[in-house]
Formats: sequence, structure tokens, C-alpha cells
Amino acid sequence: MKENFKKYSLNEARSAMLALGCDRYRGDQVFKWIWQKGALDFSVMTNLSRELRESLSERYLVAGLSMAGAGQQGVGARQEGAGVRKYLLGAGDNEDVESVYIREARRRTVCVSCQVGCPLGCRFCATALLGFRRNLHAYEIADQVRLIQQVTGTKCTNVVFMGMGEPLFNFNGVVGALEIITSPLGLSIGRRHTTLSTVGLVEGMEALLRSSIRVKLAVSLNFADEEQRREFMPAARHNRLQDILKVARAYSLRKERVTFEYVMIRHVNDHVRDARRLIELLKDVPSKINLIPYNEHPLLPYKRPTDAVIERFHGILLQSNHTVVIRKSRGQEILAGCGQLSGADRVLTSSKTSV
Ligand code: SF4
Repeated sequence: MKENFKKYSLNEARSAMLALGCDRYRGDQVFKWIWQKGALDFSVMTNLSRELRESLSERYLVAGLSMAGAGQQGVGARQEGAGVRKYLLGAGDNEDVESVYIREARRRTVCVSCQVGCPLGCRFCATALLGFRRNLHAYEIADQVRLIQQVTGTKCTNVVFMGMGEPLFNFNGVVGALEIITSPLGLSIGRRHTTLSTVGLVEGMEALLRSSIRVKLAVSLNFADEEQRREFMPAARHNRLQDILKVARAYSLRKERVTFEYVMIRHVNDHVRDARRLIELLKDVPSKINLIPYNEHPLLPYKRPTDAVIERFHGILLQSNHTVVIRKSRGQEILAGCGQLSGADRVLTSSKTSV
């Protein structure tokens, strides 16, 4: 059976070409064809000799994700300069994932998924409804960016690991994807324009800190009370708030400020006492706080707080010395907002047929 050349990292591509008796720079050329020009066939790689192209075709194929459906467009996509589009992308094994393209002023962001489903089961998150199916390979994560660039005809400026799944639960896949995404021979997106969002897996955060990988870190905190956090986010049972904050402090010592995300859910974590607890919790951690009003989902009972409640919460946090931003959520109407990705059509259909 032929191997998929797209699975190879840059170093593996170079080794593969050395094994064929070529110079290692031939690996760079093939890598560029695959990631920068979207080549799906060795025959188009015209800077390689015909013999080499034939030899590669005998041993390898080039296969990645494909569009599983037309991109769904959010309301904002029809407005000048801003918009959201959600894509369902299929892998070869009949699994599919959702990715979101966000256009805002000069910024072009792709929100990538790193797992099919998610094993962590946060109670307010639609992805958790899928359960865990599998980790995505590095090339499948990076291919979401490449494919969206191809169909939108744009060069993406930012990548956020905030789609389906927990990135630090697929550490190797995510690190490999970051290499492809940031390599000048790959998708060539600056490291400072990549953000990884985690629920706060302490071991993974520490591993990231020790590694040479530079990516902005966001921690989905959501609750300042340990007990409540454990109730809503099962991963919190093994990852204590104090340990998360310790690693966040270590990041700030390295002059890399961590962003804390706080998804505000009506009558759950939107009280004045929650805001005060949050200030107290983060008082020694230089950080930015993103308030994310909850994106409702038809299969989940939780609601977005009113604007007045969000403003009151924001006002209290502004009394701390943190930068606090209410994040404008986009794409809720097509279930493309934060925490809404679930292969919704499939989940909704199966839920309807089972009634
Ligand atoms: S919030 Fe993130 S970690 Fe929690 S279930 Fe959803 S995708 Fe998984």
C-alpha cells in the first residue's frame, strides 16, 4: 500500500528524499508543493525530474481532508469587512470535523479542530455531545487551514486552536501541526499569530512551557470556584486552579501573558460574587481576561446572560489591574460560535430520529 506523503513533517520529507537517493532539499520542494500550492499529485511538481516524480508516484500518494459540505455562512459574512463561515471537512475514514473561518477587518482567522469530538465532557459544550472519536493527525489539523485558504482564496493571518477537542490532549498532533502552519516552507503563518486554548491541563501546559514551541496560550477558566469548576468541567478534578495559575505565572515570567477565558452562563457563573472571586483568584497572575457570553445550543439547557448582567460583571473586573475584554461572539446563528461545534447537523438529526 502507498504511504501518504502528506503525513510527513519537513524533516521526515527530507529523510524520505534522502532514502530515494536525492538531496534533502528535494524534501523541501515537495513539502512546499503540498502545503503552499496544494498539490495532490506528484505529476504537477515541475521542478522535479520526470524520473523522480514517477518514482514518488510509485511509492506515495498525497491525501488530506476534503470539503464534506458547502460552507455555512453566518449573518456577519454578508456585512462589509466581517463575517463567519463554518466548514464541515471530511477525513478519509469517514470522520469529519468542523472548522470556522472568521473575517474581521484585515484579520483572517481559522479556528481549527484537533480531535473528532472531545473526551473531556464539559457540561456546557456542544462538542462534548459527540463523545471522543479520535485524535486528528498533525497534517489533518494543518490541512484545515490550507483547505480554507484554498476555498476562500485568501491568505490566513491567524490560527486559533479553539475548535473541536482539547489541544493538549493531542499534544504531538498539535505540535506537528504548528510546525507545518508556522514553517516558511509550509503555511508560513507567524508564531505570534497562533493561539492554543486549553481547559487547563497542567501537565500539557508544563510540557508546552518546556518545549521550544511558541504559541499564545489561552486557558478556558470559566469558574473561579474550584467545586463549581469540577461540577461543570470534569477535567478540573485532576487539574486544580492553583496548579493552573502556577504554570500561568511561569509563562508570564517568560514575558508571555496568558489569556483567561471566562464563558459567562446565565445564573451559573454570572453573579457579582463570581466576578469578585475571579479578581481574587487572578490577583497575582499578570493576564488578560476574555469574557465570552455563552453561545446557546439547541441541545443544551444553558443560556446567555443579559447584556446588563454582562456589563455589570465587566465593570467589576475592570476594577482589577487586568485587561478585560468582552469578546464579540460571531457565528452563533450557524452554531459556529465558541463551544457550539458538534457536527451539529449530525447531532441534531440523530437526536431527532431517536425521539
Ligand atoms: S469545552 Fe473544550 S475541552 Fe470541554 S468538552 Fe468542549 S471541546 Fe472539550
